Amino acid sequence: MIRCPVCGSRDIYRPVGGVLGEMYRCKKCGYSGALVIETDDEQDEENKE
Ligand SMILES: [Zn+2]
Repeated sequence: MIRCPVCGSRDIYRPVGGVLGEMYRCKKCGYSGALVIETDDEQDEENKE
């Protein structure tokens, strides 16, 4: 599982056909870049908002 390094959201994905290789994009804050937080956490209870 990967997380956004900016806002910590799990709503981050890797656009298909990226030109720069491993680029990710966050749906929540709009972050885009190669840096993401990788975690094996399966406990996700941050749906309170
Ligand atoms: Zn983000």
